[in-house]
Amino acid sequence: MLLSNRINAIEESATLAMAAKAREFKNKGVDVISLSLGEPDFKTPAHICEAAKKAIDDGKYFAYPPVPGYQDLREAIAVKYQKENNVPYKAENIVVSNGAKQSIANVMLAILNPGDEVIIFAPFWVSYDALVRLTEATPVLVKGTLENDFKVTAAQVEQAITSKTKAIIFSSPCNPTGSVFSKKELEAISQVVLKHPNLLVIADEIYEHINFVGDQTSMASLPGMFDRTITVNGFAKGFAMTGWRVGYIAAPKWIADGSNKVQGQITSANCSISQRGALAAITGDLAPTKKMVEEYHKRREIVYNLLKEIPGVKANYPQGAFYFFPDVSSYYGKTDGATTIKNGDDFCLWMLEKGHVSLVPGGAFGDERCVRLSYAASEKDLREALRRMKETLATLK
Ligand code: GLU
Repeated sequence: MLLSNRINAIEESATLAMAAKAREFKNKGVDVISLSLGEPDFKTPAHICEAAKKAIDDGKYFAYPPVPGYQDLREAIAVKYQKENNVPYKAENIVVSNGAKQSIANVMLAILNPGDEVIIFAPFWVSYDALVRLTEATPVLVKGTLENDFKVTAAQVEQAITSKTKAIIFSSPCNPTGSVFSKKELEAISQVVLKHPNLLVIADEIYEHINFVGDQTSMASLPGMFDRTITVNGFAKGFAMTGWRVGYIAAPKWIADGSNKVQGQITSANCSISQRGALAAITGDLAPTKKMVEEYHKRREIVYNLLKEIPGVKANYPQGAFYFFPDVSSYYGKTDGATTIKNGDDFCLWMLEKGHVSLVPGGAFGDERCVRLSYAASEKDLREALRRMKETLATLK
């Protein structure tokens, strides 16, 4: 009753909520295959773990780190962006935080005022919408269609911009659809953005390594966009480091300074030992990352083909990340005799209870017709999960 309006205006994170529900079932002894949480099923590569162990033994990393992160890590991130992404960031542009999620929260608190509008490309990652609401700004959803690989077009963006629009946010490769914006598509969007002098872009590149088509363009690298873009990235997905909680932004200095101010008041800094691991990741060999990506690539084919075998399920062909976002709405309104599936929430709950497969309802990502399936799971589990889904769905009339 005494909770703030801000908290009452947001939902619990749907990805984490479904993961918790799957865990509940597992704890009761049910053999659940959890495809809800987007989390690599690989271990953090050994050289990263070794660097963190060494940092503990060195005895030099016990104290508060600088608020925006250790200087050498920020420099290494800047160099990576100069070399790999063609963006001339310097250390002063980088703020390292507790996961990309905190990076986005910092930025939103730093740039948004109540009443500002933020255009969110839908389907979107669940926390974008909630974080915008937390700042009392207004999310404006612009929807991509399955026919266009769920990608929002420049013309759609142009139509959605009002005098209140402060920022645009999207991820590419996209969580939950796996879509990748081509350079040409991003250029078209940048042309629209550049017509509006006070409009910013939050470009979430957390899945940049998990890209099967290779056309990975940073919005900040396009002409005129360096001063308009906040690039979000992190170590969780590409280096299998979800629990280490290291994300970062690369942004114009005034925005980095604003985020730094937020972070200094909220968490002081990111964990010292995690940052030493992250430094080893970003300066080290990418071979383990490439191996993981090869595996995801293989699994994408397997899951795509198995999804096609389930009647009434429509899916796009993801180009990156490790998700499918199939449209399962042809099952809405059907019943197994006891339960009627009315929407995505019912679908996922029923699939967990009857098929013992955990998925996330699409409504949380901005599309009620769909559910999200993470294929960051073993081939064996994926085959079994898809078999269970097909078999369970066949009982609906
Ligand atoms: N980003 C992952 C996901 O979408 C992790 C969970 C979360 O933070 O939402 O599943």
